[in-house]
Amino acid sequence: MKKVILTGDRPTGRLHIGHYVGSLRRRVELQNSGEFDNIYIMIADAQALTDNFENPGKVRSNILEVALDYLACGLDPEKVTLFIQSAVPELTEITFYYMNLVTLSRLQRNPTVKAEIQMRGFETSIPVGFVNYPISQASDITAFKATVVPVGEDQLPMIEQTREIVRKFNSIYGDVLVEPDVMLPSNSACCRLPGTDGKAKMSKSLGNCIYLSDEAEDIRKKVMSMYTDPDHIKVSDPGKLEGNTVFTYLDAFATDEHFAKYLPEYENLQALKDHYTRGGLGDVKVKKFLNNVLQETLGPIRERRKQYAENIEWVYEVLKKGSDEARKVAGATLDEMKAAMKINYFEDADFLKDFSNK
Ligand code: ATP
Ligand code: MG
Repeated sequence: MKKVILTGDRPTGRLHIGHYVGSLRRRVELQNSGEFDNIYIMIADAQALTDNFENPGKVRSNILEVALDYLACGLDPEKVTLFIQSAVPELTEITFYYMNLVTLSRLQRNPTVKAEIQMRGFETSIPVGFVNYPISQASDITAFKATVVPVGEDQLPMIEQTREIVRKFNSIYGDVLVEPDVMLPSNSACCRLPGTDGKAKMSKSLGNCIYLSDEAEDIRKKVMSMYTDPDHIKVSDPGKLEGNTVFTYLDAFATDEHFAKYLPEYENLQALKDHYTRGGLGDVKVKKFLNNVLQETLGPIRERRKQYAENIEWVYEVLKKGSDEARKVAGATLDEMKAAMKINYFEDADFLKDFSNK
């Protein structure tokens, strides 16, 4: 069986370091591993509209921003197909057929959707499109027969939902669809990177992000005002690591090489953590180190991003070509599905025969 990746992001803002550690960094590694037959990366504008329907301008203006973030991180259009969701209308048609295979109560049980409904104040009037988005996501994944979906932890319930739909479709209509596997980051700090405010998840919608496109000075300011341990007041106080965002970010980004370069008095992160919990290590020193680590990681990304932004017409062509390619693949899966469902009347020589033989 072919090895295929499908993953993507909503164009609701520029991408942030949560996206980077949760999914983007992995995608680039997988792309360069050469182990996959096809890699599809989708800018999920239709999904973004499910909770931004009143503000299509926001979605529109972030499409090229997300594409620039992709290219800046090292996704290579020679190796991956970058496309825009709404440019592949076959995905909507697939969604329509999947909607019959899922109950409303199953959708409402989805913990990520539940949390997002609360966050958006949709409790009393949930748009049907919003509660339906896990089904639409199942179409995105299965239309490309993806075997692997590299995502952050918040996407686990979506992949589970997708697997259920695949099993149900195949058991009713025949073996057409492929059950995908989720690929979470191996480092638990990266599964759900918290916001700079210490909130559970860095998220475009919460405004607690360090963006891949942030200038050096913005990064420094955000790091220096980051949430740590509120009870760690004097340098001599023992500090807590649990819920301490600065240490979570170090878990996600710091390497032993960073220590050798910027903080050689500590061998590695464990040594720094031990000192912090013992007492005698101030937040400012730890934050300065984190700032160095982030500057080193994000500087080259920001610079590449600027270069691609100067060639924005080329980026536009990449998305157009990718969307045409994605359309062909999704169309072929849709044809197979309709044949399995026996609703491909005009391609089905038996359709009239069945009528005559009745
Ligand atoms: P929105 O607030 O519009 O939902 P978002 O910041 O949650 O935006 P998405 O486009 O929904 O971003 O997520 C895209 C991908 O990035 C998903 O795979 C998701 O799991 C991952 N991701 C998003 N935020 C984080 C985070 N804080 N830590 C790890 N992974 C993340
Ligand atoms: Mg999200």
